[in-house]
Amino acid sequence: MKTFKDLGLIDEIVSAVSELGYEHPMPVQEKSIEFLLNNIGDVVALAQTGTGKTAAFGLPILQMVDAHEKHTQALALAPTRELCIQIANDLKNYSKHIKGMKVVPVYGGESIVNQFKQLDVPPQILVATPGRLIDLIERGKVDLSRIKFLVLDEADEMLNMGFQDDIETILQTTPENRRTLLYSATMPKEVMSIARKYMKEAEEITIGKKNSGSENVAHVFYMVQAKQRYLALKRIVDMNPDIYGIVFCRTRQETKEIAEHLMKDGYNADALHGDLSQAQRDTVMKKFRLKNLQLLVATDVAARGLDVNNLTHVINYNLPDDVEVYTHRSGRTGRAGKTGVSVTIIHTRERNRIREIEKMINKTFEQEMIPNGLDVCKKQLMHLVEKLDNVHVNEEQIGPFLPAIMHRFEHLSKEELITRFVSEEFNRFLDYYKDAVDLNVQQDDRGREKRGERGERGDRPERERRGDADAVRFKLDIGSADGISPKRLLGILNDITEDKTIRVDDIDITSRNSFFNVPKVQADKVVKSFADQEDVQLTVVSSSRGGGRGSRDGGRGRSDDRGGFRGNRSSGQGRGGDDRKRSGGYGDRDRKDRNDRGGDRGGYKKGGDRQERSSSQGGERKKRW
Ligand code: AMP
Repeated sequence: MKTFKDLGLIDEIVSAVSELGYEHPMPVQEKSIEFLLNNIGDVVALAQTGTGKTAAFGLPILQMVDAHEKHTQALALAPTRELCIQIANDLKNYSKHIKGMKVVPVYGGESIVNQFKQLDVPPQILVATPGRLIDLIERGKVDLSRIKFLVLDEADEMLNMGFQDDIETILQTTPENRRTLLYSATMPKEVMSIARKYMKEAEEITIGKKNSGSENVAHVFYMVQAKQRYLALKRIVDMNPDIYGIVFCRTRQETKEIAEHLMKDGYNADALHGDLSQAQRDTVMKKFRLKNLQLLVATDVAARGLDVNNLTHVINYNLPDDVEVYTHRSGRTGRAGKTGVSVTIIHTRERNRIREIEKMINKTFEQEMIPNGLDVCKKQLMHLVEKLDNVHVNEEQIGPFLPAIMHRFEHLSKEELITRFVSEEFNRFLDYYKDAVDLNVQQDDRGREKRGERGERGDRPERERRGDADAVRFKLDIGSADGISPKRLLGILNDITEDKTIRVDDIDITSRNSFFNVPKVQADKVVKSFADQEDVQLTVVSSSRGGGRGSRDGGRGRSDDRGGFRGNRSSGQGRGGDDRKRSGGYGDRDRKDRNDRGGDRGGYKKGGDRQERSSSQGGERKKRW
């Protein structure tokens, strides 16, 4: 195994990385450093976050930049302010023994005037987010005309976030003879096209397979009824008492709700999403980094800047639309040589999505069973026992109180005492799980849900039912065969109700129907808005699906799907062209969600396919959406 010195790095850098505890170069470092120091070409490197990319480009650049020259010689572009700060801090650490080397981060969300000051003497290395950099170039505060190195870090994320034009503008202001180094976790065609257009004979460095996740991550999924996702999440968390992870949700609303539920239920969790101010986001991230929070519930965009190495779990509360997003999410665990688990909770009709992801990432998912109440209790109990066994006793502080305590417990035997201590801590759990039902979906040999064998949800304890009691469940007579996706559904609801505040939850889409919950207080508005709609029919499925009956109604909706409501579908037939246009217009709420995700590449892509397919399925299913 090579050392940093073997790669040709100077002593100042070797000693800095060794002080950071880096013993050997990571694979992407070995390949990048060797190539960059001994060649003059560009680099396109496919590597996950957490694989050591910053040192891979940072160390050779620090070595090749002249610290005596006071002009900007290297620029690293990063998608988020957090990553920008992180890269700059890493580079400062790596260069702490190089006299005169200055690294400055510039990013949006902070006073530009403060950043002006730092640029009075130009740094040799500038780390920037694209938008802020363009601002500074336009104000004449940054001169990129003598750049020798340009790094595009997390290039796929930058493009996802809509920075393509900014990146091209920046690339055009830098000299042609610069060396361009592009690092990306995935290689969508947009990234390849930037590489082809702006890079010369680039050396390709691939760590792992294309679009594959880290080798250190185990991928598992649990299959439950869609409406039991939250209960499943709690069981998974309870089964892992030392969990330290991110729960990824699809929308800000879902993020807020899940975090609120978790906090209400006594978990050490908080939310991170785009509706928080930068200061609030910083506070949450800080708490999470310090492990004062065990679970961070986050949207993909909000979690982007978060750099944490020792996550035990990533939980996909919902699957993302895009496989690449899954790769990014799961790549947040299993970093820096550690192992991790990427957990996905799917409902019964998402089995195919798992297969799609397996193909893309070239990894197999293990299906695991949601633990039953007894398993969870055993696990928690043993964890408590372990904690008691290892507890640090501060004799000095506890000492003065002990005689009184001993006296108070004199009448109890050791066994009785232990039983009481453990019960005190543990009764809450035993009580909660005493009637817990099996959350696993019964499956046939081919992994499909067995009908009519669902658990007796009517017997669920009160706390397990909490969450959707005040909702009305609706059904629309359009489904995936009509091109309906959760996002499209939200767009339609948004458009028809003309009310963006309607809170839609628990979406379930079958081929022919879409089910969703709306809080009771908003249900009337939904019913009225749909009353005069000719081409889509809304039905109330249940007005309180939180309890056992309501849940079964959700199930009945699914069986209706197998035939019951077909007759309703007549008014919208044969309206092809116009409707296509209209369906494009159902997008405001989508757009909001897409903004949160920083650009949607998956949402409507398949629409065209579906339209063709469905029209060939016969007249009845002609497209309306
Ligand atoms: P990065 O992908 O650059 O964000 O690096 C991921 C994490 O790995 C960071 O916390 C680095 O400090 C750490 N790291 C980078 N290179 C090494 C190395 N050679 N040995 C140990 N840790 C490293």
